[in-house]
Amino acid sequence: MEIIKRIRQFVSFDNAGEDVANDLITLMRIISMILGVWYSFLAVFCFVQSIVTFGIMFAVTASFIIAHIALTFYTDDNTFLLSLFGIIVAVSSFLFARYVGWACEFQIYVLLYTLLIWYDSQKNRRIKSIMSIVSVIVVVVTFAFCATDNISDMIIRMNTNSYAYIGAVNIAIFTLCMCLIAFSFSAQFLSTEHKLYQYNKKLKQMAGMDPLTQLLNRRAATEEINEIVDKYAANGESMSIAIGDIDFFKKVNDTYGHDAGDYVLKSLAMMFSDAMKNDGFVARWGGEEFLFVFRSMNGDEASVVLNQLRSRIEKTEMVFNSVVFNVTMTFGLDEFSLSHGVEGTIKSADDKLYMGKEGGRNRVVF
Ligand code: GH3
Ligand code: MG
Ligand code: MG
Repeated sequence: MEIIKRIRQFVSFDNAGEDVANDLITLMRIISMILGVWYSFLAVFCFVQSIVTFGIMFAVTASFIIAHIALTFYTDDNTFLLSLFGIIVAVSSFLFARYVGWACEFQIYVLLYTLLIWYDSQKNRRIKSIMSIVSVIVVVVTFAFCATDNISDMIIRMNTNSYAYIGAVNIAIFTLCMCLIAFSFSAQFLSTEHKLYQYNKKLKQMAGMDPLTQLLNRRAATEEINEIVDKYAANGESMSIAIGDIDFFKKVNDTYGHDAGDYVLKSLAMMFSDAMKNDGFVARWGGEEFLFVFRSMNGDEASVVLNQLRSRIEKTEMVFNSVVFNVTMTFGLDEFSLSHGVEGTIKSADDKLYMGKEGGRNRVVF
């Protein structure tokens, strides 16, 4: 476990940011490390076989890779690192295909470069397309120069089937690296998508919420009512709508200050949310006006609930900066009908609210 931790620290060294460019560098470090280990192993293996020429060639390639790993720690220039990576895989693929054998599949590593270049956020699509074509050309040129039936002396001396084993390891390493790139890309993509989803959700919530009372605002409330109408009321279920307005609220502001007024609005909003949580919803309709929607309740039923609420408001002591006072509210209520429509019902509730104010306030008019 300690070694895994060390390797993780090593590949993510100086690379703590969240952007794609850093991920690309980490990926290149991991791939270079895997290739470095594999090529070094082959180099040692060839020395054991006493084929000095190949041993030296492998050692040179291994040192290329090690140099590449080292360089990723000294620069975060993607273009330079990717180009270096491309050159290393192109040269080593060519040398290996030429001197070990085309059948050993070293040339597929050029295609890793093609995948990596598409991962780079700093380059445009034109350059990515050109570099992809160049990679294919490199493979074709390698094929033209190296794809002979001759399997190298080294392979023959080792074992006639060795080229197949080396080819299998190469394909396995290529697949592993490809999965790493795909995994990293999909992790990036999913995390971006998740963040976007969260931001959108938050934005939508904020756009539909009144910041002072944390209740739905007028726009969101209208949407919500239309949804309820579509889902329930259109199927014949009852729905009632009321508008409540705080009585003489201007006086509250004038007497106790605007902050006290805000405090009253917040306190009442909390009380209403709690009271309405099973019956429907409440929204801030205007300055000191609240809209109440009673789902599955006819006017008579809603009137009972509203009268209880009205009496509760009247009895609730508002305490702000050690000053105690009471407020009252007047409500206008109407029952929804399809012929009347949402707007008609709200208009009628508003008219009844006006009647309630005219009639002396602190009452529910239905
Ligand atoms: P009525 O009983 O006829 O409704 O009298 P009122 O004083 O409540 O009605 P009016 O329309 O004259 O005054 C409403 C007041 O509500 C005026 C405005 O300053 C206050 N108000 C509106 N929004 C807010 C708010 O967000 N915070 C505070 N503190 N006051 C607000
Ligand atoms: Mg008022
Ligand atoms: Mg008003």
